[in-house]
Amino acid sequence: MLLRKLETYGFKSFADKLNIEFGQGITAIVGPNGSGKSNITDAIRWVLGEQNIRNLRGAKSEDIIFSGSTSRRALGVAEVSLTLDNAEGLLPLDFREVIITRRIFRSGDSEYYINKTQCRLKDIHQLLADTGLGRDSMTVISQNKIDEVLNSKPDERRLIFEEAAGITRYKNRKKDALRKLEDTEQNLLRVADITAEID
Ligand code: ATP
Repeated sequence: MLLRKLETYGFKSFADKLNIEFGQGITAIVGPNGSGKSNITDAIRWVLGEQNIRNLRGAKSEDIIFSGSTSRRALGVAEVSLTLDNAEGLLPLDFREVIITRRIFRSGDSEYYINKTQCRLKDIHQLLADTGLGRDSMTVISQNKIDEVLNSKPDERRLIFEEAAGITRYKNRKKDALRKLEDTEQNLLRVADITAEID
């Protein structure tokens, strides 16, 4: 799936609005050490639903909001929007372009949007499941990730292949269905108890 555009405001070192349009082919981002190259991949990872702040090289969620510099005051909000090309219909939405937006306030409150309509984080995870852009996918491979994959346990490595093979969505649905079955069985037991008491 093609990335069309990345827009950020207040994310990490990007105090001003940043707008990156991705063209056809490969995009390379070059710059001196500490200029924010990895912050761009962090922004992509974050907007795609990353929840573990350590994977974004932070310790607490506030760390991804611009924390100020000698000439600029800290900001109270960070926002990232990623525009995905959906011409091939890989995302189960009837739009040729899908914009995912995530916003976080210093208070800790978060907001999520799909095509400017507010949604839950779960909706973003569901939208991206099995597209290769999901949480556990290898979409963004950081410098230490390759070692981590090579050293991972077989069970952990299996999750990577499952995401790539596109079965995560069905595994999640199976988990939900089993949970509902379990709840229903408990309800039936309770109904049987009550019926027995009445009889
Ligand atoms: P390298 O080439 O060394 O890997 P890089 O270009 O990938 O560097 P990044 O790691 O993306 O650079 O950016 C690091 C910079 O981002 C540091 O200067 C750091 O102070 C700044 N930074 C990170 N989080 C914040 C924040 N919340 N507010 C302001 N600046 C931040």
